[in-house]
Amino acid sequence: MSNPRPRKRFGQNFLHDQHVLDRIVAAAELQETDRVIEIGPGPGALTTRLLATGLPVLAVEIDRDLAKALEERNEANLKVKTGDVLRFDWSELLTQPPYKLIANLPYNISSQILFKVLEHRYAFSCLVLMFQKEVGERLVATEGSRNYGILSVLMQTWFHVERVIKVPPGAFFPPPKVDSVVLRMTPLSKPRVDVQNEALYRKLVKSAFAQRRKTVRNSLLGSGWQAEQLDQAFAATEIDPGRRGETFTIEEFGALANLLYSINGEND
Ligand code: SAM
Repeated sequence: MSNPRPRKRFGQNFLHDQHVLDRIVAAAELQETDRVIEIGPGPGALTTRLLATGLPVLAVEIDRDLAKALEERNEANLKVKTGDVLRFDWSELLTQPPYKLIANLPYNISSQILFKVLEHRYAFSCLVLMFQKEVGERLVATEGSRNYGILSVLMQTWFHVERVIKVPPGAFFPPPKVDSVVLRMTPLSKPRVDVQNEALYRKLVKSAFAQRRKTVRNSLLGSGWQAEQLDQAFAATEIDPGRRGETFTIEEFGALANLLYSINGEND
């Protein structure tokens, strides 16, 4: 399809900067045995480069017209799935792991996509993703930074996150209102913490940042955690409950979550 009209509701900002496209593909360090997933191929500037490697590419696109145009290219190594990537059952999408997920993401759903990635993280050997700059900054942020939050902690628990390249609005058509950044995330051979119960850990991290201005203890109380159990866990881990969530290292979140799990199992 030539010159598709970008649809704002699908977050369509099409990348045309050749250097940025090169850097995205190079960052994925594609090997002969890799399989690739692209979310939101759009008119296919990135897809074309990925297909040129000869590797199998699975592309998931919500825009029926763009998906159809891609399908009509009849590329032997391309499989197109049409629909909202958040509505697919990812266990059915990711049938031949590991995959490299390479994408210029629709910015309005990038956090939701990352939560899905976390849920299915064993299926990925590498992620190279374009984000709006603010989200990228959150993902690389460490404790003590105002950008540090739920996604920083959860992604960095299991992935090494690094910046690949900053991308100005002019690299896209139409240019978005914000700067962008490409990040590479690779699974850690050993997670930052040995989380005993992931659901509880995720819930704890989310609750700790629910009210950023409050102390962790108050923020957790506000999210329904039991005072007695919290106090027992803070005492046992020797973590000061008067601190704010943004000062907690990943290891401290892990220690607190494991302690709460040992006190009360999955009931928290
Ligand atoms: N990859 C193309 C490029 O770099 O030029 C397009 C990137 S554009 C920022 C985001 C793409 O994601 C669009 O093609 C859009 O239609 C698609 N998209 C938006 N929401 C989606 C969803 N929920 N599921 C799958 N694709 C989606």
